[in-house]
Amino acid sequence: MAARTNSILDTRGPQIFPVLEASEIERVRRFGEVRHYSAGQAISRAGEIGPGLIIVLRGKIEVIRRDDSHAGDLVVTHGPGAFMGELAQLAGRPSLVDAHAQDAVEALIISSDRLRALLVAEAELGERIMRALILRRVSLLEAGVGGPVIIGRPDNGNVLRLEGFLRRNGHPRQTLNPETDAEARALIERFQVDPGELPIVLCPGGQMLRNPSEIELARCIGLVRPIDPDRLYDVAIVGAGPAGLAAGVYAGSEGLSTLVLDCRAFGGQAGASARIENYLGFPTGISGIALMARAYNQAQKFGVEMAIPDEVVRLEALEGADGRRFRLTLSNDEHAMARSVVIACGARYRRLNVANLDAFEGSSVHYWASPLEAKLCAAQEVALVGAGNSAGQAAVYLASQAAKVWLIVRGRSLEASMSRYLVDRIAGLPNVEVVTRAEKSPPWKAAVGRSRQSAGAGPAPAMRCGGRSDTSSFSSARSRTRIGSPDPASRSTPNASCLPVPAQPAIASRWRRVSAAFSPSATYARTRSSASRRRLARARRWWRHCMRFSPQSSRSRSPLQPKQQERTHEQGQL
Ligand SMILES: Cc1cc2nc3c(=O)[nH]c(=O)nc-3n(C[C@H](O)[C@H](O)[C@H](O)COP(=O)(O)OP(=O)(O)OC[C@H]3O[C@@H](n4cnc5c(N)ncnc54)[C@H](O)[C@@H]3O)c2cc1C
Repeated sequence: MAARTNSILDTRGPQIFPVLEASEIERVRRFGEVRHYSAGQAISRAGEIGPGLIIVLRGKIEVIRRDDSHAGDLVVTHGPGAFMGELAQLAGRPSLVDAHAQDAVEALIISSDRLRALLVAEAELGERIMRALILRRVSLLEAGVGGPVIIGRPDNGNVLRLEGFLRRNGHPRQTLNPETDAEARALIERFQVDPGELPIVLCPGGQMLRNPSEIELARCIGLVRPIDPDRLYDVAIVGAGPAGLAAGVYAGSEGLSTLVLDCRAFGGQAGASARIENYLGFPTGISGIALMARAYNQAQKFGVEMAIPDEVVRLEALEGADGRRFRLTLSNDEHAMARSVVIACGARYRRLNVANLDAFEGSSVHYWASPLEAKLCAAQEVALVGAGNSAGQAAVYLASQAAKVWLIVRGRSLEASMSRYLVDRIAGLPNVEVVTRAEKSPPWKAAVGRSRQSAGAGPAPAMRCGGRSDTSSFSSARSRTRIGSPDPASRSTPNASCLPVPAQPAIASRWRRVSAAFSPSATYARTRSSASRRRLARARRWWRHCMRFSPQSSRSRSPLQPKQQERTHEQGQL
């Protein structure tokens, strides 16, 4: 019986906690072994790899969410016929929750590799078990139960980075803001954490990390393990986007030993899509992360090993006694050997050629429009640069949260580069304004000069999305060695760029250069036709509006800017 309630538990309880018939248990006995536990005995511990899927034959098992402040909350009690486990058990990863025997328990233990065999061999029963494992993970994600605890300000670039990494990898987490949460403050004091070391991360196994990299965090929570350098895989797949995961599913289902490596998260670009509507078989659309999570779980069901995050930096062909093999070298100097390699490393985002852009990346300039970024832009104005489908999806998504979305487009119209359904949807959104022919035009001074001369315009416009520039949060290790991808930079467009008004004078001057580079007046200035004049007038209105947010006037609050955001900005000046 569930002690905690949340939406998915309410709506899909029987699917999350199915009870197997005696005949079904008999059928799956061949996959496991019977074990006995005495009353109170620990069966699995959060942060440690558990024995696998556990079907209760006799007695009861209590599943507990570990809590730092007290003994823990009861998540569920499993009785005879029920089974304990979620997606971590499918992949052989550390457990997210604690479990112990309530009384004397007899259980059928099915290890991870045997569980995968069961799911493949028992189609109908396998489907029910798989669905339960997935829904249990969804329920843990919803409730933020079982993962690491991140302590730091929610608008801190490193908090966003770590949250984004865990979210993209379908891993539960909880974030505590020390400015509003007494428990978070107490933890900071207890661990004697200097403010400059925030965020800290408390892993379920009890370890504490100070502003970790994604790889450090992944290793701490058992998301990624060392690769056996002596094992020869049939296939190694570089990239866990749609192409890599599809290759993984087909290779795994053919019985090939398969390793999929990705330097960031499963899902690739598609994982960042707010809603994919043109994927075959999903007439109502599906979020990219949901679609990709299905593919990821499907690949694991077929025994595909995932190494995420692991970056491949080198590929060599070696001649062995038994023929040719490939050696992949990872950025952490690990090696993987495979008979064949599929390179599915996709495209790299094209970044705007703007000086100091990297100073804002991660805190105010973003390349995704996930719920995390949407929260940062809530009730504020956001500038989106790009006119492909990614930008279109981001515009539609952000319009539901932001006060206004400026869609900055280099070309004459959206139609040339965006799918019709997105163009139509954007046209119907009152708070999305499309600014066409608004190319960023370096050198910025020339662009602004031209625009002033011919259009009589004032200083260049600025786009603001609140928040503050947190230069301590900039990740420097962004460059990635791509293999087998000729010039990916030309294939993809950043879908969300949003420029802040920084507090410090030094950064404010850099900000002016960045914002000026987006000057639409530079291009509108050259317009002649009446339609163009209308656009020019619109650009001027936009410029006037944006000037209200310029650094000089940043203390005057926009009517669109909630008080809370202003407070955050001021805190940023401390
Ligand atoms: C926001 C957004 C929305 C989109 N919406 C749609 C849509 O609605 N419909 C549609 O059809 N398409 C959409 N797309 C495009 C679609 O997502 C891409 O075409 C698709 O993801 C490409 O798949 P891929 O597997 O080839 O590459 P990617 O998705 O780019 O995946 C490549 C993966 O390889 C990894 N990688 C790269 N180099 C290395 C390395 N050296 N080592 C390890 N890993 C590496 C990357 O981290 C990445 O995860 C969208 C794209 C975005 C960004």
